[in-house]
Amino acid sequence: MPASKNQIAATVSREEAAKVGVIDAGRATEVITSNSRKQYGFTRKMLPTGLPTEPKLYIYSVSEYGEIVNLGPGFPLFEVKPCPEDETYGPPLAINPVYFFEEAKVDVTEHTFHSGQQIVEAILKIGPGMNASWDKRRWGWFVSASNPPTEEEVAGAVALYTQNCTRLLNEGNRYAAANQLTEINETHRRAAKYLGQRVDWDKPTRKMVDCIGCSERIPAGTKVHAVPYCGAIQNPTFEGWAEAIELGIKKLSDAPEHIQAQLKKSA
Ligand SMILES: [Zn+2]
Repeated sequence: MPASKNQIAATVSREEAAKVGVIDAGRATEVITSNSRKQYGFTRKMLPTGLPTEPKLYIYSVSEYGEIVNLGPGFPLFEVKPCPEDETYGPPLAINPVYFFEEAKVDVTEHTFHSGQQIVEAILKIGPGMNASWDKRRWGWFVSASNPPTEEEVAGAVALYTQNCTRLLNEGNRYAAANQLTEINETHRRAAKYLGQRVDWDKPTRKMVDCIGCSERIPAGTKVHAVPYCGAIQNPTFEGWAEAIELGIKKLSDAPEHIQAQLKKSA
């Protein structure tokens, strides 16, 4: 059996090894660098190895909001996982204490240092240069130095998110009252759901209109406002009555006489 490359590397001189196609670590680095120069047109610097991975920070969500966060080229993608419905908080996103952001500078790459704390602030959109309204903690995200997080941290995150949901619920109710249904979006619906509130605007495509009988708000497309105090057919034409009778919502005898006459004629 011929000797393996590892055996050759360990037992023969550098020159002899090179003759049989085995290279040492120094030569390997040169090959990687020249290959990368050929492939990318610039030199990639190798990251120092053995970077600390502890202590970590953890980002959790107490809401159904989760997201893959892209902090820009050179950074890994960070995924904040949403909270499953039967849990109080979702799985952790672990953040290492140091990150190196690989940046291309003309024909070499440089590694810029970022602390785990800076990464956390960028993900949560907090800290210097961030607008308070972008703060992801309002959407149920929070950071902890521990996994699992403390009860106080979870409670604090729930309180902040509940406060934001209450604001959104009130806003949704105001829009609904003003018939500005296009202003109501997914964040309002999620807020109502989280707070366990039954609202008449929680269906995405449900446009509300006035009942022609009693002026109450009813979903668009309603054939008959079938409540004891109303019962108005929304399209009081021959076609409307024919449809309502066919669907069994109205009886022939409910229709005005001229429509009854028309219906009998066409039957
Ligand atoms: Zn009505």
